[in-house]
Amino acid sequence: MPLVDLIVTDATVLTHTTPADAGYPDDGGAARATAIFLRHHDIGIADGVIAWVRPTGTTPQAEREGAEVIDGRGRLAMPGLINCHTHSAMTMFRGSAEDVPVESWFNDHIWPMEVNLTPRDVALGARLAIAEMLLAGVTTFADHYFSMDEIAREVTASGARAVLASTYFSSEGPAGLDRSAAFAAGWQGAAGGRVTTMLGPHATYTVDDADLQRTARTASQLGIRTHIHAAEGMFQTESSLAARRVTPMQVLHDTGVLESGVIIAHGAGITPDDVRWLAPVADRIGVAACDKVYLKHAQQSTTPVRLLHDAGVPVGIGTDGPASGNTLSVLESMRMLALVEKQKTADATWLTSAHALDLATRQSALTVGLADSIGALLPGRRADVVLVALDRPHLQPLHDIAAGLVLSVQESDVRTVLVDGRVVVDEGRLTTIDVQEAIDGLTVRIPQLRDRSHGRRIQDYAP
Ligand SMILES: [Zn+2]
Repeated sequence: MPLVDLIVTDATVLTHTTPADAGYPDDGGAARATAIFLRHHDIGIADGVIAWVRPTGTTPQAEREGAEVIDGRGRLAMPGLINCHTHSAMTMFRGSAEDVPVESWFNDHIWPMEVNLTPRDVALGARLAIAEMLLAGVTTFADHYFSMDEIAREVTASGARAVLASTYFSSEGPAGLDRSAAFAAGWQGAAGGRVTTMLGPHATYTVDDADLQRTARTASQLGIRTHIHAAEGMFQTESSLAARRVTPMQVLHDTGVLESGVIIAHGAGITPDDVRWLAPVADRIGVAACDKVYLKHAQQSTTPVRLLHDAGVPVGIGTDGPASGNTLSVLESMRMLALVEKQKTADATWLTSAHALDLATRQSALTVGLADSIGALLPGRRADVVLVALDRPHLQPLHDIAAGLVLSVQESDVRTVLVDGRVVVDEGRLTTIDVQEAIDGLTVRIPQLRDRSHGRRIQDYAP
């Protein structure tokens, strides 16, 4: 038995979110997901990996010798949360394009302002975003943006984990994909394995089929997946059908992108017929649901969680960028998804809190391609652990821990956060990031960032 260097003692540990994970016969999967909470348990960590999860008081003193101890009494230990789709650096535009329709959001606000970006803006924006995410228990994020080298450096310095994709459009010519591929090859496995990479074509309506085919081939050569916006709403599926007679999912199928593995950002326009393209590759794809953004942009269609569940396709939780979603909290996005699903299906028994936790942990890990290393507190997984205070008035009395975590918890209840066994948030304080420097650096840039007098935009939005 390996000696451990860190032990979280006497916590309530969320270990399994489905009966199958727990080694029980599968009773129907995540629709009836069971969240299993082990009270009075310790988590032993060695070299950044979970060595064991045991009842408190059962580990011999010789095996505890010299280990640092984190007191878990009154705390819930859960897997680090995973943000399956965001544009982290867009914290710099948070609140800059409010109460406008989505076309105006892109064409009149965001894409003209993105002409003004400097690599330093991106670095500071990402730093602020990582601070916000770590404080809310988000230890891994799947990012899609420009100047990705800057973001990778911020991830490295912060101790967070990330799945990074450098964004490109076909309007850039071959240079866009070449840049994305060079980034992916150069940073894969960096920061001690905390950085993994994907290719980042922007969307099925801004990257043409030839470039998507080349994307799929390049991804296969590099042994990585792709992260792309597709079928963001039913309006996109309808316009694709009208213009080309194919749905965005069929475009991903026909170009080979599905086959090579993909995060489908949003997927709110996925149709029942699309299941024929998705189900056969369910082991290498996932859909990132971003329900807060659907609500904010007055979008009538949302990610069809029930359809995807029945097809065996993983659904992860995403926040989208903070310029559209305003926050980067997976707890908040998970809660909104759970409530939207109940309302949309008119079924209060659907999307239980245990199911929501399954989406935010196990299925999100599948979605970002890291199911072997994160998403569960099990021996052999990386020690990405979040400790949540359960002794808060809004959580007590605690009849149902899963319901507390999904429907009552607040981000500030996250007290301590580990990534690879390293403490990155200690009792609510960041240990690796100077947030004030990022806030000050971005605040002085607001006039330049908002300047649209140049009359240009990085792209035209016409899905
Ligand atoms: Zn997005």
